Amino acid sequence: MQNRLDGVVVEVEGAAESLTSFISGVKAELPPLADVSEISSTELEIRKDTAFQIIESEAGGLGKVFITPDIATCGECFKELFDPGDRRFRYPFINCTNCGPRLTIIQDIPYDRINTSMSCFPMCSLCRKEYENPADRRFHAEPNACPACGPVLSLLDETGSPLPDKDPLRKVITLLLEGYVVAIKGLGGFHLAVDAANDEAIKRLRSRKFREEKPLAIMVKDIDVATRISRIGKDEEALLLSPQRPIVLARKREKDALSSAVAPGVSDLGIMLPYTPLHHMLLEKHFQALIMTSANQVDEPICVTNSEAIKRLKGIADYFLVHNRDILVRCDDSIATVSAGRKRMLRRSRGFAPKPIALKKFYPEILALGPQMKTTLCILKGNLAFLSPHIGDMETPEARDFYQESLILIQKIAECKPAVIACDLHPAYYTTKFAEELASSRIIRVQHHHAHIVSAMAEHGIEGEVIGMAMDGTGYGTDGTVWGGEFLIADEATFTRIGHIKTYLLPGGEKAIREPWRIAVSLIKEAYGRNWPGVAEELNIVSQKSYYEMIDRIMTQKFNSPVTSSLGRIFDGVAAILGIRHKVTFEGQAAMELEAMAKSKTDTLLPFDIGETDDMYLLNFLPMIRKIIDELRAGRSKAEIAYAFHMTLPVAFLSMADAIRKRRGLNRVVLSGGCFQNRILTEATIAELDKAGFEVFFHEVLPTNDGCIALGQAVCAGAQVKL
Ligand code: ZN
Ligand code: ZN
Ligand code: FE
Repeated sequence: MQNRLDGVVVEVEGAAESLTSFISGVKAELPPLADVSEISSTELEIRKDTAFQIIESEAGGLGKVFITPDIATCGECFKELFDPGDRRFRYPFINCTNCGPRLTIIQDIPYDRINTSMSCFPMCSLCRKEYENPADRRFHAEPNACPACGPVLSLLDETGSPLPDKDPLRKVITLLLEGYVVAIKGLGGFHLAVDAANDEAIKRLRSRKFREEKPLAIMVKDIDVATRISRIGKDEEALLLSPQRPIVLARKREKDALSSAVAPGVSDLGIMLPYTPLHHMLLEKHFQALIMTSANQVDEPICVTNSEAIKRLKGIADYFLVHNRDILVRCDDSIATVSAGRKRMLRRSRGFAPKPIALKKFYPEILALGPQMKTTLCILKGNLAFLSPHIGDMETPEARDFYQESLILIQKIAECKPAVIACDLHPAYYTTKFAEELASSRIIRVQHHHAHIVSAMAEHGIEGEVIGMAMDGTGYGTDGTVWGGEFLIADEATFTRIGHIKTYLLPGGEKAIREPWRIAVSLIKEAYGRNWPGVAEELNIVSQKSYYEMIDRIMTQKFNSPVTSSLGRIFDGVAAILGIRHKVTFEGQAAMELEAMAKSKTDTLLPFDIGETDDMYLLNFLPMIRKIIDELRAGRSKAEIAYAFHMTLPVAFLSMADAIRKRRGLNRVVLSGGCFQNRILTEATIAELDKAGFEVFFHEVLPTNDGCIALGQAVCAGAQVKL
């Protein structure tokens, strides 16, 4: 056996059947973290070798041996952790070749202990023996350690001074039980933890973190607790238990033991299972669930170093449970869910990054810089797409520093610095401006929704023209307006916009995103013309008398009121019309609450119409807005109206797809965009299109939100370079 630049070469000899079963065995009996992308074989002359032998690696390093993601504590380590006879009994840093930190402890490549934050812990003789023994589970486990030689925990007060407790973990459990907020150093960053059953503690955490309503993730003791508090099917269960251990969004049960402050107003809980030895010990006896939310200030990246945590979490955390194994790469928890019967990612980060995504085709080297929100970076090299961990929103200097760190990291991991750069079309995005600063041979600007569609195409390896439906928040269009309800004829390199949602104004621009009442007014004005103030007053949408004149004026003068075709903003507007909320505290809140409200099933559909010109189909939802208001006047339940709204959109999408199919003969539909995070919408859309004989493609590996954009940009640019 030999590691070579292009993979592993194995020479075996024996009877034909045993060779066949050997090959199938290689695929079927892999260790948990191993992954075989391809097996090929040729016949050799028989050499009558009888011994198993590993030949030294080929010169030039290991080639395609990648940095692997961080992996949850494996079953065997878990057993040892709670085995009083084991030398690592209750040691919070237990790990082996099958589990533990990887990406988050690397300083440099190749992945050897010397290049990780474990380099400062010389192994004791017992650990070294394991590390050097090919038959041991800890053979070449770079973070291998034990209580005699490895990292240790310590507890700090809010100023960062160490507390003298002999057993920091036990003390932390007591503090959590008393309702304190404790910052806990994890795998890819700090979490802020409080007892999920303690209302007061959660409220304290929320007010300190300025996060009044956004759902908080929880870590539950085991799968039984998860099943008790939420509706877990077998797919959700598999996701929860997977070695990647993402946060899984699952439907809440009506009655559960958790505080209602965990995830108010929405239908899902974000749940994860313990994924480090420390987590297992924290949740062992005293808690059913802990809030475990990323430790950061609004819009800032997750804290990783002890000193950074103490500084940036001042006033938020009462105590800090830290250790002396440095986190060198920030990596937030991943988020996944199940919709339309498949696993879907909402954030691809810890456990998944930086494992490259294998594409069906080969491309030139490209660096893609991503969008402005939910950003990731992507390097395309050969048939592999290397995606950085989730970076987030480019709104703060800290986030931008993190972006720079991530660029260096992803170049190291992909082992290249592409000279061709792909970025968004939006001239004001930080990521676009950054493209202009980088030394590059060529900058390729990719329209946001084209990138959405191409990312989903690349995931499924499809080529040629498709009907792309990008149902989204906002993205910069080729005409300078704000797009977000787009029907494209797209291939990898090019697209034409063949239809879109009929445009309306966003009075106040960015402000309209935080204040959906403004969008409601805009839609009502489009639907009722000059009579809009009467309707708005009837629905109690405008909070102050003086606003009527103000908003009318800015819309009439088109002052700071961009034109948009966004579906995401229609969700916001409809939520405001239904009185769900007039202002939001985080993006997507109104839409999530509208989804949660859509509980009463009804066969009623709302009206819409489709206008057609020579080269464009316009999907007009104003008849729907008028009907919603009529239904409200008639006293129809909001739960039914919300449901009817959700069911009408897929029918409208189908009508559009049908019209486009008739004109262009295309039968493949590719879905992408933030709106498809809404499960009711996604499931109904796929079902409608399916029923009508369309071939439907939707994300499974990448998030449907802007987490997919960097890869879409890269593939699109790659295809353009190839042309
Ligand atoms: Zn293990
Ligand atoms: Zn040791
Ligand atoms: Fe988007």
